[in-house]
Amino acid sequence: MATVTLRPGREKSLRLRHPWIFSGAIDRVDGAPVSGATVVVHDASGAFVARAAFSPSSQIRARVWTFDEREKVDAAFFKRKVERSAAARAGMRDATHGACRLVHGESDGLPGVVADVYGATVVLQLSSAGADAQRDALADALAALPGVACVYERSDAEVRTLEGLPPRTGVLRGALPDVVTLVEGGLLYRVDVAGGQKTGFYLDQRDSRASLRTVARGDALNVFCYTGGFTLALLAGGATSVLSIDSSADALALARENVALNPALDPARAAWREADAFAELRQLRNAGASFDCIVLDPPKFAPTAAHAERAARAYKDVNLLALKMLRAGGLLATFSCSGGIDAALFRKIVAGAALDANADAAVIGRFGASSDHPVALAFPEGEYLKGLLVRKAG
Ligand code: SAH
Repeated sequence: MATVTLRPGREKSLRLRHPWIFSGAIDRVDGAPVSGATVVVHDASGAFVARAAFSPSSQIRARVWTFDEREKVDAAFFKRKVERSAAARAGMRDATHGACRLVHGESDGLPGVVADVYGATVVLQLSSAGADAQRDALADALAALPGVACVYERSDAEVRTLEGLPPRTGVLRGALPDVVTLVEGGLLYRVDVAGGQKTGFYLDQRDSRASLRTVARGDALNVFCYTGGFTLALLAGGATSVLSIDSSADALALARENVALNPALDPARAAWREADAFAELRQLRNAGASFDCIVLDPPKFAPTAAHAERAARAYKDVNLLALKMLRAGGLLATFSCSGGIDAALFRKIVAGAALDANADAAVIGRFGASSDHPVALAFPEGEYLKGLLVRKAG
């Protein structure tokens, strides 16, 4: 087996159980490992540190599978890890009618591996060379879980290019049902597993949607609505109108369908706009529009810390426009899912937006992903989703 030897002192973060080995930490590689191969990692003195997956084209040159020298990285290893992740969510899977994240990458000890389950269908996303090399072992392990009939691969995230991996999608085990539907808070949502974004649905916003439902009122605006997650929650919560904006026509079509799937919701209260959110918010603002309740759930503007500055401007821009259009006493639920923007910085950005909007506002609640999206204590980068519920003074 190939060996990666670290520079002196560069084993420190690994001894703290952080799973990434950056290219700059490596002194030498012996044995010419191929992309995704499992390598042994040694410190400068030659002592064992970890077994990791090698990724020759990524700055994150290796990701740790195990810190235990006695543990082999084979099919049984992945079966064990997948079973352990699934077992940790047993209660969650029941409580969510079978719609939850089963494997959450680094925080479940499986770097680069994400698996979401919708009823009997698992959607698998592999985003690192190491994860990609273990496709079969992972698919077998997921397919063997109780209640799973299909494993579908959606490895088409942009980050794969950093790992030198082409996109890959399609059925891995079983057959994809014609229609995949989930129930959340008594509301039905159809999930486009093959064509939707990420794995088809943003399970990480489950708790936030439930919270918004309890505070929804008056005229609401849902920006970056995707397939209507927050739109349905706002309607169910009693908003008198919801205007939803997204740049994706496909997402909007499914969002409309999702409202129609729920007879308790009045489609006449929902309006839809296919537009660039930045331009549309400006236009609404210029037209003098105002709202009692606004949700801002933009895509990842800063995938890494390197994009933080440009992302900060984008966040400020949308939050500023939203705060200007918020009526006195109104509520803004504002989110960032950028790993490169931490909670403190996000709060600062929103505070800056309030200042520029001349809005007297206070944080009255905070949002984050629920327990099916764990954040390993050794891996703070896992804490990507944060949200604030802000109330404008009345
Ligand atoms: N709130 C949603 C998830 C939002 S994902 C839920 O709970 O399900 C982010 C959405 O932003 C995607 O649907 C994407 O199509 C949309 N988007 C990205 N850039 C945009 C832009 N510039 N203007 C409008 N929508 C955009």
